[in-house]
Parts: sequence; structure tokens; C-alpha cells
Amino acid sequence: MIEFDVVVIGGGIHGAGVLQAAAAAGHSCLLIERKAIASGTSSRSSKLIHGGLRYLESGQFRLVRESLHERTVQLRTAPELVQLKPFYIPVYRNTRRRPWQLRLGLLAYAVLGGFSAGTGFGSVPRSQWKQLDGLDTRDLDAVIRYHDAQTDDAQLTRAVVRSAQGLGAQLAMPASFIEAELDEHGVRIGYEEKSDQGSAMRECHARVMVNAGGPWATHVARDVRPAIAIPRVDLVQGTHIVVPVETKSGIYYVESPGDGRAVFIMPWQGGTMIGTTETPFQGEPDQVQPLPAEEQYLLDVAQAYFPPLRGLTRADITTRFAGLRVLPAGDVQAFGRSRETMLIGDRAESARVMSIYGGKLTAWRATAEQVMEKIETSLPRRRRRARTEDLPLRSSL
Ligand SMILES: Cc1cc2nc3c(=O)[nH]c(=O)nc-3n(C[C@H](O)[C@H](O)[C@H](O)COP(=O)(O)OP(=O)(O)OC[C@H]3O[C@@H](n4cnc5c(N)ncnc54)[C@H](O)[C@@H]3O)c2cc1C
Repeated sequence: MIEFDVVVIGGGIHGAGVLQAAAAAGHSCLLIERKAIASGTSSRSSKLIHGGLRYLESGQFRLVRESLHERTVQLRTAPELVQLKPFYIPVYRNTRRRPWQLRLGLLAYAVLGGFSAGTGFGSVPRSQWKQLDGLDTRDLDAVIRYHDAQTDDAQLTRAVVRSAQGLGAQLAMPASFIEAELDEHGVRIGYEEKSDQGSAMRECHARVMVNAGGPWATHVARDVRPAIAIPRVDLVQGTHIVVPVETKSGIYYVESPGDGRAVFIMPWQGGTMIGTTETPFQGEPDQVQPLPAEEQYLLDVAQAYFPPLRGLTRADITTRFAGLRVLPAGDVQAFGRSRETMLIGDRAESARVMSIYGGKLTAWRATAEQVMEKIETSLPRRRRRARTEDLPLRSSL
């Protein structure tokens, strides 16, 4: 049976990140992905590499600091894929968050970001409001400008996998994880690999299996014998739509007039992407899809702010997609729940299975390094090949 130091299940951004970090640390590693790289949540996010300004409101300072640090790293290592963009927050007479509150938040953001590039902020002078893509200026008190970064999440994920492969990591795809059995030295993994000739059952052995199944992580964990601890999580659906009217000036961060939730309105491939919703999800992760009511909600929010979008109906939507957030189970609204990543090992010391639940696209590299730190004692010592913060990421080979 082929032996690996690390076998990763799931080719989303977290699986890609762990694969890269393991390969960079000198380990033999294999990624098993059942469909395609970034075929799950990692192609259905809001595509922001950001500190998460709104997490300041729920006191998640560690997360914001880490995310801003990771933003700086990616602006340096992946300049083709991660770019700073101006963000605008319009504040009207009846907007809940007032300009002074936003300035205070942005000051905290700048402090947590170590006053690095892109942490400056200010107000857009009234004379420049007409350059803001037709933003409604009636009752408009101020427009706050700051910077965060945008990416193409699927391209970024593929670039991380290519980087790992360049360091010797292997890929089994399309290949589905079927089951795992823990033993004294690690874990025996059974998976089904598909090819033009049909499908074949394969087996390999790993010192550590990393479960990066995203919304499917619970399913993966259930197929480990003997049974391992599985945290209680909720899946929360987030939908985005793209409409064929171009926004050019930057990304707008607006408050839904109805429920006060934050919604992003941003330029995307010649059109405008609007997202996202937070709808509790009960079904199978494979079945997630945008709901008509979510699409209408997003259109309504965008049309409330941008008169040029007011003629559009759901029939004009050119692209729609929904992804699933993995959040700690609870009664609090999704908006207010912790966005911290949960890393759960099968045992406190020398874990053989490490599962990743939740997390941020932005913090993928930091999360991968935390996983490596947690599984270090289960792995043989190897000669390090590279440091992940130095590895360049390119949009294609
Ligand atoms: C609507 C929404 C918007 C978001 N916006 C942002 C944002 O703007 N910025 C940000 O930082 N974060 C954002 N996030 C969070 C971020 O997108 C996710 O944390 C991240 O993409 C999760 O990646 P993952 O690798 O854990 O999961 P996934 O990308 O879902 O990957 C899991 C992979 O596992 C594979 N898999 C499942 N079962 C098996 C099996 N049996 N065998 C083999 N493979 C299997 C799947 O095919 C899939 O490719 C957003 C999330 C959502 C839902």
C-alpha cells in the first residue's frame, strides 16, 4: 500500500492550502478531490480577501488581525490574483451605522492591519459622488472610502494546488473518499478513483488524514472507524447574483434597508455581482442552489441604492450561485456567529485525523499552517522545501 505523510480530502481552498503547506514542509502528500479543484464553496464565495470590517462589531479582533496579515501576504505573493480595490460605504440620513462609527471601525482596522498598505481611509468629496456608478445621492450624508482586496477564488485555489504540485504533492481527481480506518501508525484510506476506463477502488496509508471537506466535512468524518468526535455545526446558505450592468468605480458595502444586513455590490467580469444572503440550510450540500426569494432580496437591495439597476428583473440575472458557510451550531443569527475556523483532531496528542470546519478564504494559508502545527507530532521530521509565505502564486502555468 502506498504510504504518505499527509493525505488531504477535498480540493477547496483549505485542502489546497494544507497540501501546499505539507509539501513545503517536505512531506509526501496526496490530495483526493471527488469533482474538480474549487468545485465546492471555494468557487462560490464573495471573492474578497479582506479583514472583515464587520467582524469588528462582534469583537473578533484576532480573526480580523490574522485576515489583514494574510491579505498583505497574498498581495505580495499573488499580485495577479489578489488586488486591492476601493470600497465605498454610503451613509444616508437613515443608515444605522453613522460616519463616526465607521471611521472608528476603520481606525481599528488600520491598527489591526499594522498600518500596512491599503489601510488608509477617508471620505469621498461630494463633488466626486457622481463618479460612483449612479449611486443614489438623495439624503446621502457621506461616502466612506477604504481598501480591501478582491480575487477569483477558484483561480486562487487552483494556483495553490499547482504550487503544491510544484513541490511534489500528488493529486487523485476525480476520486472520492469512501472510508478510513485508524490504526497505530495513522490511517488507512479507501477511495474510488474515476477514469475513462471506469472507476477503481484504491487504498493508501497516511500518518495523518486532513479532512478538508468543507460543507461535506461531517460526511467525511462519519466514515472514519472507529468513530471520531464531530462538532455540532450548521450550514448557512449564501447566494450571489450577477447582473449585466457594469459597476466600475469599486466595491460598495451597503446595508440592506430591510434587515440591516451587509451586502456587497461589486464589479465582476463586465457586470455587477451582488451578494450575499444568509439562509439556514437543512438538505444535502450537493443540492444547494439560489432560491428565488434570495435573488429578489439581492436585487431589491442593489436597486434601492443604484437607480441604473432599477429596470432589472430576475430574468436579467446572468449568473447565480450559492455556497454553504459552516458555522458553529447555535440559535444566534448566522451574521453574529463566530467565523473562527475549528480544527478538530481525533485525539489531543498525535492526531491521525484533523478536520477543518468553517473558516475564511482569506485566511487559507494561516489555517494550513495551524493545521501543520497541530499535526507536527504525528509526522516524521523532513527537510523543509520552502516557506509558504514566500511561495509565489500565479494565475496560470
Ligand atoms: C456565500 C459565501 C461567501 C463567502 N465569502 C467569503 C469572502 O468573500 N472572503 C472570505 O475570506 N471567505 C468567504 N467565505 C468563506 C470561504 O469561501 C470558505 O471558508 C472556503 O471557501 C471553504 O473552503 P473549504 O476548502 O473548506 O471547502 P470547499 O471549497 O467546499 O471544499 C470542499 C471540497 O471537498 C470535496 N469533497 C467533498 N466530499 C468529498 C469526498 N468524499 N471525497 C473527495 N472530495 C470531497 C468537494 O468536492 C469540495 O471541492 C464565503 C463563504 C460563503 C458560503
